[in-house]
Amino acid sequence: MPKVYIKTYGCQMNERDSEQVSQMFIERGYTMTREEPEADVVLINTCSVRDQAEQKAIGKMGMLRKIHRQRTHVVTGFMGCMAQSRAGELLKTAKVDLVVGTQKYHRVVEYVEEIVRAKEERQMDDEKFSIVDVEEETSSQNAIRDHILKEKQASAFVSIMQGCNMKCTFCIVPYTRGGERGRPIAEIVEEVRRLADQGIKEVTLLGQIVNLYGRHEFPMKDGKSPFVQLLEGVHEVPGIERIRFTSPHPIGYKADLINAFTYLPKLAEHVHLPLQSGSDAILKKMHRPYSAAKFEDLVARIRAARPGIAVSTDIIVGFPGETEEHYQETRALCDRVQFENAFIFRYSKRRGTPAAEMDDALQLSERVKEERNQDLLALINTHAQAKYVPLIGTKVEILCEGPSKTDASRLVGRTRTNKIVVFEGPAERLTGQIFDVHVTDFANFTLYGEAVLAN
Ligand code: SF4
Repeated sequence: MPKVYIKTYGCQMNERDSEQVSQMFIERGYTMTREEPEADVVLINTCSVRDQAEQKAIGKMGMLRKIHRQRTHVVTGFMGCMAQSRAGELLKTAKVDLVVGTQKYHRVVEYVEEIVRAKEERQMDDEKFSIVDVEEETSSQNAIRDHILKEKQASAFVSIMQGCNMKCTFCIVPYTRGGERGRPIAEIVEEVRRLADQGIKEVTLLGQIVNLYGRHEFPMKDGKSPFVQLLEGVHEVPGIERIRFTSPHPIGYKADLINAFTYLPKLAEHVHLPLQSGSDAILKKMHRPYSAAKFEDLVARIRAARPGIAVSTDIIVGFPGETEEHYQETRALCDRVQFENAFIFRYSKRRGTPAAEMDDALQLSERVKEERNQDLLALINTHAQAKYVPLIGTKVEILCEGPSKTDASRLVGRTRTNKIVVFEGPAERLTGQIFDVHVTDFANFTLYGEAVLAN
């Protein structure tokens, strides 16, 4: 039975896409392997959002080149955002057999089999035979719908849309993922229903600008956006106990969505709200259509709708032209809002984006970016400390996800506010269950404690 190895970089959307591709291979009789040396098909699902992710994938190219030379029967390929934006280059430098863009995941198995046939028949020189498909395809968003569930798995990601029309000047996603395309509400709800039938208790709805889902395709109903209609549909599915969504855009939090937090109790108490910058001048250059004051007002309205809700964010430091004053505005806003957690990124040029074309004189040195990064991290850590430490000595409700990835002798779970909790207990019995944990300690955005179990 041929074996397939897939290495995935980047966001949860990429994880979902890889899961879909894996499922299609399994349906065709292949097995998945975690061991690259024993694989007959080696695929890399790439990410272009950060320079670091691209560099890692480029590093893997060396591996693919070696495979190509030494094990000529093996099919090698690139998928995903980098494949979409740099197809020709990858084909040439990595010498892979296959390059598949972000709207063609559902064709991967078929292409691999075509390449295998070509290699077996030796009708073509395999150095030259390759398939590249980075074309757009209508309705490709509907192709990401199958899941591979582990035993007792309790949470799952559900891809509800692809693409983004926002064109933030630092972001490559609109160029790699294309325009916004949503799946029909009924199909998504049906997928969630099937997941719930298989024991899934928590779903995370995925999209590049998830809370603007369907805005160009589906009508408003009773003053409610397609996204709120979808949340209501998912909320009705029996067995689903927690609903999350990522990654939203601040402008997608209209009154109907904020209000949904008051009457949809299954919506978990956590929102991720990418701020990017606390300076109006920089937000404008980033093409983010809100002001710092509007952002703060939004956080206040969300917190009023669901008291105790956790708010996390993304921030870019060192965007071209960011002065010390601009940075201090970001810092001050973070200090006022007190995020539960923040992902801080040093700006890196993404080829083909408007920010990459900005005057070189506006680009900041790596030293300044690093200083701002460290300074903001330290501030965010003090805020996290203030939110996490009071939980020591209390009980928190968690959904147990199974053994911890870093220490298999312990279990890991997540609170409704998306805090990670590590504790000990029988994996077989507790994985997939919702129960309380008595918190005893905190370090590095992780709570530690003891499971509170009946009997
Ligand atoms: S909204 Fe998000 S995905 Fe879309 S362009 Fe902006 S940062 Fe990129």
